[in-house]
Amino acid sequence: MNKYTINQFRKAYPDDDACLDKLYQLRYANLICPKCDSDKPFKRVKNRRSYQCPACGFQIYPTKGTPFEKTRIPLTHWFYLIFLQTTTRNGVAAKEVERQLEVCYETALRMCHQVKRLISNEKIEKLTGLVETDETYVGMKAANMTKKKRASMIDANNTFKDNKTGIMGFVSRDGLVKTEVMFPGKTFKERVRDNVSNEAFLITDSHIGYQGLDIEYAGHETVNHDAGEYKRDQWHVNTIEGFWSQLKRTLKGTHIHCDAKYLQLYADEVAFRYMQRNNQAGMFETILSHVVS
Ligand SMILES: [Zn+2]
Repeated sequence: MNKYTINQFRKAYPDDDACLDKLYQLRYANLICPKCDSDKPFKRVKNRRSYQCPACGFQIYPTKGTPFEKTRIPLTHWFYLIFLQTTTRNGVAAKEVERQLEVCYETALRMCHQVKRLISNEKIEKLTGLVETDETYVGMKAANMTKKKRASMIDANNTFKDNKTGIMGFVSRDGLVKTEVMFPGKTFKERVRDNVSNEAFLITDSHIGYQGLDIEYAGHETVNHDAGEYKRDQWHVNTIEGFWSQLKRTLKGTHIHCDAKYLQLYADEVAFRYMQRNNQAGMFETILSHVVS
């Protein structure tokens, strides 16, 4: 386990200048001035978030086009939030960010979503090898809703509307994870095709939606949960089910509830942390590097 401690973090990023310098290094290391072609190193401009060409005075802003650009939130706050996201098992709730950074809740929530967007820039190719595929449903419990919200969930027949959102997950046995929130309009098979290479060998439960995929894939084995079967040699979906537990713990434990429209961001975050769980320091660097892309 490659840990990243608060002391290491504080030492690397003691103030906004250090954070800005990190962004500069990430984006503009070895920059040739785009205006005068000078290769002399740019110099930091005092009291501005910019660096200047010593030959012609051309300035660049390392926060430009990043989530940190149009905000008065100190860069150290943003970096600290990314640190928290990489070192906590189930992520960090906006409420906790509000408390620790002493910002209002709306700001905390916006910052959390921005960092999630950075994380979800991690693009994973279609999975291959042995790939477990499964679907699950997550939702908000009526008991956790406000009265108003609860009332809005009752339809004309006075029955409770289904408030669960489906999500399909794919885990390869070499440790990669992808998820897709199941907004209407696609079949199970289409979702599988979009996330799993046809060279892969699929393992699913016996849901009818997966049937027939064996002719398109290297192979397809099913475990029949209805018949009480959970594991037959290497054929099981226990890995993806472990991932679902992690996702549900995060949604329930840390975030209380999550709007369906944000579910993909949360799922991406859990997948990212799952894949990089033994590499906290690397995780921090990877999230920061997404600022550039
Ligand atoms: Zn220049």
